[in-house]
Amino acid sequence: MGPHNGTVSNVSRHGVRADDGFEFACSACGVLAATLSVRGAGQTIYDGPSYRLEFLGENSGIVPAGLVELLEGRDEIDPLDVAHLHGELGAFCCVACELNYCAKCWSTWIEFDEGFYDCTRGRCPNGHEQMLDD
Ligand SMILES: [Zn+2]
Ligand SMILES: [Zn+2]
Repeated sequence: MGPHNGTVSNVSRHGVRADDGFEFACSACGVLAATLSVRGAGQTIYDGPSYRLEFLGENSGIVPAGLVELLEGRDEIDPLDVAHLHGELGAFCCVACELNYCAKCWSTWIEFDEGFYDCTRGRCPNGHEQMLDD
């Protein structure tokens, strides 16, 4: 018997545009699973636009090619499209379930490579494993 977390079936995996970027809801418990925002799109700044992902923690960096174009002018975004561009930015969405899970609903663990942080992997409530942070 696997865990049954009572999937909230009416929760869409699509992120919805909010004031501070796109918000993605957890399909298992309904809380905010992740927020993805892009800063500096269309501006001439030091090293181009940057992203900020809040999921397991706060993660930011230079946007991967195509992300600004993908998010531009959209009110909703499919996290699988984001994951297709850059796996880590859509990691909250289980590619097997095609549903989002929050940091609490993913069972996470850290893997080390010769004593140094290598990556964070996780298992979704339906038992699928994937890389969450690399
Ligand atoms: Zn959850
Ligand atoms: Zn899954």
